Amino acid sequence: MTQIPSGFRNRPQALNANSLFKIAIVGRGFTGFMTAIALLKTLDRPFHLVMYDPQRTVDVGKGLAPTSATLLNSRVRDLSIVPDARDDFRHWLEAGMRFADTADRAPATLEQLFVPGELFSDYVHQRFSEALRDRTDVVVQICPEAVTSLDHDERTGFTVTFGYRQSAQFDAVFLATGYGQRESASESEAAAAAGDAVVIGGGVRAVDRALRLLADGQAKHVTLISASGFLPQPHTRAPVGVVVSEEPLPNTLRGAFRYLRRAAQAANAQGGDWQGIMNGFRLRAHELWQGLSPEERARFKRHVRAIYDSHRNRLPPEHYERLHLGIARGEITLRKGKVERIATNGVLIQGRAGLEVLCADRTVDCRSRPTDMDSPLFRSVLRAGLARRDEADLGILVDRCGRTTAAPEAFAGLFAMGPLGLGSLPDVDQVPEIVTQGYAAAAALEQWIDQIQQSQDAAPQGR
Ligand SMILES: Cc1cc2nc3c(=O)[nH]c(=O)nc-3n(C[C@H](O)[C@H](O)[C@H](O)COP(=O)(O)OP(=O)(O)OC[C@H]3O[C@@H](n4cnc5c(N)ncnc54)[C@H](O)[C@@H]3O)c2cc1C
Repeated sequence: MTQIPSGFRNRPQALNANSLFKIAIVGRGFTGFMTAIALLKTLDRPFHLVMYDPQRTVDVGKGLAPTSATLLNSRVRDLSIVPDARDDFRHWLEAGMRFADTADRAPATLEQLFVPGELFSDYVHQRFSEALRDRTDVVVQICPEAVTSLDHDERTGFTVTFGYRQSAQFDAVFLATGYGQRESASESEAAAAAGDAVVIGGGVRAVDRALRLLADGQAKHVTLISASGFLPQPHTRAPVGVVVSEEPLPNTLRGAFRYLRRAAQAANAQGGDWQGIMNGFRLRAHELWQGLSPEERARFKRHVRAIYDSHRNRLPPEHYERLHLGIARGEITLRKGKVERIATNGVLIQGRAGLEVLCADRTVDCRSRPTDMDSPLFRSVLRAGLARRDEADLGILVDRCGRTTAAPEAFAGLFAMGPLGLGSLPDVDQVPEIVTQGYAAAAALEQWIDQIQQSQDAAPQGR
């Protein structure tokens, strides 16, 4: 008698019944949309997709840039969302003449540009609409509600609870909640022309905000408070590609640092730039991460992450120059410290010399938010044992496809995508990595459904 392998006991209901396979995507930021596009392009069967997000109008560029006009910190060439067409974003820009003087630019020049977030947002939405238009066998529903819990039962699949105690059943669920539900910008409003402003954060977003406050005359002086004391490094003016060192990758953090330093020195000596080395290193970071012990991963989070981020999330060269000119002119002051409290008249910071009040006419909080593991949704996911937290406490343990378990026989159809997997996959919060992961997840889902179907076909009737 043929048995259904116990590995596939978590079989989606829709494969037994005469109904569409049902998929939920929780979160409609860039990761949610990218996952949807990959599913539409990859799944070889009709399905019903519901996308949840309390934000009624979702601007995917918002996750990447605080205002639509803010320049992204990746070049055009690094923002294609079509895996086998690295120049897709550039073609899209050229085709629509969407960027000032696009027509006058040679393709190679256009690829090196930094463009505003709103353009990237339009591009992703258009590619989503096209993918949907090509699938008349797929139903996509947008649900403007927050998901508050997730449960799983072997017989009925996933139950998603959303809004005010409403629920729906699904065969597979993709969590794409990124940095949690967006709150309105935390900014204490100021008098028309503020004198002193405080911008909290040491990343590209904080620098961008500080430069805009000065450029728009909204502040005469900005104090940038960076918890680590680091600020983002620059992209090179001339494009650099990926430089891969021939040295084998070390398997300790200390070794990785030495490796990076030596590789950068060698690049310098040959007239190259460290940015190419960093690009090459990022491609192999997954390999290194897998080899680190849990203690070393925790150490990475405590001591290395800030410096790693300052080298991978880089500023367009013009922004970097304006930042350092502002510092030299005394318009921008960098402070290292942890902000304890934000008040209407400034902030309380913990610096080297103890607690200190920094008075300001305006305070803007640009700190990057961590993934929201304390939300009701994630509490329910963890409580039900549907996923586990990673050792570095950055998010959920995932494999390269975003599956929340490495053991195929235990996989029940739950994926955690994009920044949620940062503790397992370094750099999975960046556009190219999210694109790759979206397609890998869609292929893994297709394969999972096929395997279940095969095992059901082989099973005797009535089982
Ligand atoms: C300032 C900034 C600039 C960046 N610039 C670049 C760049 O230039 N290049 C690059 O490659 N990468 C860049 N990144 C990184 C990358 O693009 C982001 O990590 C990515 O946008 C994350 O998208 P996301 O959809 O996972 O998360 P988010 O943008 O945070 O979206 C998550 C969505 O999920 C929703 N949500 C949350 N909880 C729930 C819930 N319970 N129920 C329903 N919906 C929920 C939220 O409302 C939100 O809409 C940048 C990131 C930041 C923060």
